[in-house]
Amino acid sequence: MAVQFITGLGQEDQLVKLLANDNLLGHNEPRFAFLGRSNVGKSSLLNALTRTKSAFVSKKPGHTREVNFFLWEDMKVVLADLPGYGFAKATKQARNQWSQNIDAYLRNDKGLNLAFILLDARHGPTDLDLELFSYLSKLKIPMCPIMTKNDKLKTQKLRHQRKQFVKAAFEEMGVNPEAIIWSSSEKGHGINQIKSLIRERIS
Ligand code: GDP
Repeated sequence: MAVQFITGLGQEDQLVKLLANDNLLGHNEPRFAFLGRSNVGKSSLLNALTRTKSAFVSKKPGHTREVNFFLWEDMKVVLADLPGYGFAKATKQARNQWSQNIDAYLRNDKGLNLAFILLDARHGPTDLDLELFSYLSKLKIPMCPIMTKNDKLKTQKLRHQRKQFVKAAFEEMGVNPEAIIWSSSEKGHGINQIKSLIRERIS
């Protein structure tokens, strides 16, 4: 198996305690985080990326607030799978808990090399996404947006328009991403680009 589950934590204090220790349960490989709204295609992308069928499962919105850590053996990096945010039907308490865990993770993980923020290629970036980007900028965490489900942009014209729009939205925010990657887990788009970026950052 190319991916090994390390641990999953849903309590903020446990997460902070785990991250305070330099070696995450014996794993000091560089860490790459994956964040995005529920249903953005995060599990599909992580499975496509690591060539596993079901190591990453889509969690029912409202049912997870855990930060899950996986060792990606081939690449010798740890992947941090963060809870999906922005699910409108979740209770306020659940929403707070997710954002608290995301916040606790981002503020405390000194081994975090890069945060990938997943956005749907067809929509946004929404205000919530931009808020997250500006927050990461403040924390000086390098970030890379991944525009998912790229295959759903059916025409060349639409793809071109979306690219221009997304680029302008980031520029307007003063956000300077490492790159903007357009991906499709169904078609395999963007996978090599993500891997290359990871390799580049750890070499
Ligand atoms: P998560 O909640 O962010 O983990 O999202 P999932 O990976 O479970 O995907 C949510 C839905 O989007 C599922 O129905 C997937 O089949 C679909 N999906 C995910 N990635 C793609 C993609 O690249 N292209 C298309 N067309 N659909 C996708």
